[in-house]
Amino acid sequence: MKYVLVTGGVVSGLGKGVTASSIGVVLKSCGLRVTSIKIDPYLNMDAGTMSPFEHGEVFVLDDGGEVDLDLGNYERFLDVTLTRDNNITTGKIYQSVLEKERRGDYLGKTVQVVPHITDAIKNWIESVALIPVDGKEGPADVCVIELGGTVGDIESMPFIEALRQLSFSVGTDNFCLVHVSLIPVLGVVGEQKTKPTQHSVRELRALGLTPHLLACRSAQPLLAATKEKLSQFCHVPAANILNIHDVPNIWHVPLLLRNQNAHVSIHKQLGLLSIDTPPKLE
Ligand code: ADP
Repeated sequence: MKYVLVTGGVVSGLGKGVTASSIGVVLKSCGLRVTSIKIDPYLNMDAGTMSPFEHGEVFVLDDGGEVDLDLGNYERFLDVTLTRDNNITTGKIYQSVLEKERRGDYLGKTVQVVPHITDAIKNWIESVALIPVDGKEGPADVCVIELGGTVGDIESMPFIEALRQLSFSVGTDNFCLVHVSLIPVLGVVGEQKTKPTQHSVRELRALGLTPHLLACRSAQPLLAATKEKLSQFCHVPAANILNIHDVPNIWHVPLLLRNQNAHVSIHKQLGLLSIDTPPKLE
């Protein structure tokens, strides 16, 4: 199983969900079978009890799971049928660990965030990634994992640590990290600012994860000089810096990624055969 992890930096609501589903579309149109997992680091068991004014629409899956609306994006973009287990929350992880603790499964050990919570996260990801979601038999080729929230949030720390361990155990050829970040423009100066992205990449690296691709959200397309600066300071090759500027509707995002050869960069990172012909998306 190959994993593509999508994280977000600087602010929430950046478009991680849309970026992650669009990456899935581009990989699917290269002939790969894709599944997805959404991680929500809140304590609620699921989105069913959360106010739609605060959280947005609750998406109901075929198995009755009440989940984040990003799973609706995945189902629509990728034409898959996900299960409630494809949405991991802190609440679900803690509940499974605490149930095991009450059963005495830990055999008298002190139950801790590391390694018990992080192991539960890793095991959950690895087993759910194997569930076929596209109507075919056998596991998918690639699992796109979206980590909700912003890198550096206290509540996402156990997930970051579990994903760091996962990246190490599956090996560099099976793990690709795409970091979605914001490139603001200062009104008066009109300059695209890279510093917030530099800081969030530094934060990610301090936690043991190095981004292979940067997906930069901005109002206007990135200037060549901005890309160069990002590449130099964030340690990411310029070819792997993708620009996802504001578009009139989100169905344009897979095309933006395809036009910037995102599939080539991801294939290279995942040690897949390189693609000579661009995937057909129209
Ligand atoms: P996150 O997962 O980071 O919270 P979402 O993927 O839910 O963010 O996107 C937040 C909002 O931004 C959604 O309403 C989505 O339609 C919009 N959006 C995302 N990417 C773009 C884009 N490139 N252009 C315009 N709107 C976008």
